[in-house]
Amino acid sequence: MDSYIESVYEGIKEKDPDQPVFHQAALEVLETLEPAIKKFPKYKEFAILERIVEPERIIQFRVPWTNKDGKIQVNRGFRIQYNSAIGPYKGGLRFHPTVNQGMLKFLGFEQTFKNSLTGLPMGGGKGGSDFNPKGKTDNEVERFCTSFMMELYRHIGQFIDVPAGDIGVGAREVGYLYGAYGKITNLHGTCVLTGKGRTFGGSLIRPEATGYGTVYFVQEMLKTRKDDMKGKTVCISGSGNVAQYATEKCTQLGAKVISLSDSSGWIHDPDGIDTKKLAWVMDLKNVRRGRIKEYAEHFKVDYSAKGSPWSVKCDISLPSATQNEVDAKEAKALVDNGVIAVGEGANMPCVPEAVEIFQEAKVLYAPGKAANAGGVSTSGLEMAQNSMRFFWTREEVDAKLHQIMANIHQIAYETSEKFGDKGNYVLGANIGGFLKVADSMIAMGYLS
Ligand code: NDP
Repeated sequence: MDSYIESVYEGIKEKDPDQPVFHQAALEVLETLEPAIKKFPKYKEFAILERIVEPERIIQFRVPWTNKDGKIQVNRGFRIQYNSAIGPYKGGLRFHPTVNQGMLKFLGFEQTFKNSLTGLPMGGGKGGSDFNPKGKTDNEVERFCTSFMMELYRHIGQFIDVPAGDIGVGAREVGYLYGAYGKITNLHGTCVLTGKGRTFGGSLIRPEATGYGTVYFVQEMLKTRKDDMKGKTVCISGSGNVAQYATEKCTQLGAKVISLSDSSGWIHDPDGIDTKKLAWVMDLKNVRRGRIKEYAEHFKVDYSAKGSPWSVKCDISLPSATQNEVDAKEAKALVDNGVIAVGEGANMPCVPEAVEIFQEAKVLYAPGKAANAGGVSTSGLEMAQNSMRFFWTREEVDAKLHQIMANIHQIAYETSEKFGDKGNYVLGANIGGFLKVADSMIAMGYLS
């Protein structure tokens, strides 16, 4: 590794030794920036790497709320405002018991490059809480969201920071958060959150966007080998927002999705999860808030609490649950079973050794910051529509999303070629996202 890059990486580990997922995300980016750092000495001269790894601001706060028995509970809330060089901070909120500062730094750092790739004027941010919405009543979730916003409202705004959903934060949570923001500030109709309900400013296609976008990106990769989705067998993990709409798009394009999962286990349906079965899953997960095991009981297919869908033979794998969910052994199994493309619906779902295995085997591999950028892109389109006080139709938003995903693919592909490793989408996406942010930071002076 280049000595400048190494010193920046060592500095990160020394300053925050207890943030392993952030180290992992930073290393993945820093390593691949080497050809750009060598080609353009200005990035070292202006200390761009030292600045870009450091969040502009970290906000941590107490979130007290009362549970259904009237007892006071306390959670921790966070917002990490990572980089505003190209626009207001933008990125989701995650509610999950594992949330901590290191995890949100990994996600905010990734988000900075992802947002740059979309071509829209959005900086990078991320936030959330160690609150677990699972098993809570609607009233408990509402009280938590209201308390969370009682603090967050003072740090966000359409020209400051615009959060959205992520794991554990879906339409229900965004609705409560937006409702609380309106009550606290008496500001209405400003785009301070995206992923809003359709009736109060949400964009059509935003719920679908991350899953659809991931499949659009895989389609673009397949095109480079004169192939397409039709007739392909697809394994998907997760059964939340991203997994559901990735399943829908695969099916629309003539592929067959044969697996889904949640944090308790996974199902294998060799006949495919068709439109009717997917509607059943959406009701199970979004309305009844049940477990994927119930799918196996209802449709009489295999369920396992151990292992993962990656042991099943498939042409395309779309990990869409969480970080580090595909290890080296699972990557090897996928390759041995003939996988041709992997598209990360989730953020950093493949461990670094798994990525190496895919790349060595010449599997088309799309890192999350490129493949799952459709969600934040459509959030950007939601911001644009809110500013215009106008709505685009479903078809219009979907066409723009499709075009953005094709553009991101083109940037990643062409950049990989320009920097000497054609088809290496990790290198292409990292350098492609980095250049715009770094050049903006230089142009705006040492404070940015
Ligand atoms: P959801 O909360 O809707 O769904 C998450 C799914 O992943 C659930 O099935 C959940 O199971 C499973 N899951 C969560 N944590 C774990 C874990 N530790 N082990 C195994 N399974 C787990 O979230 P999304 O679908 O929105 O997000 C999924 C991924 O996509 C995340 O990495 C997110 O950062 C990324 N992403 C999401 C975007 C969006 O627009 N929503 C945009 C870009 C990326 P269970 O219900 O049991 O917890």
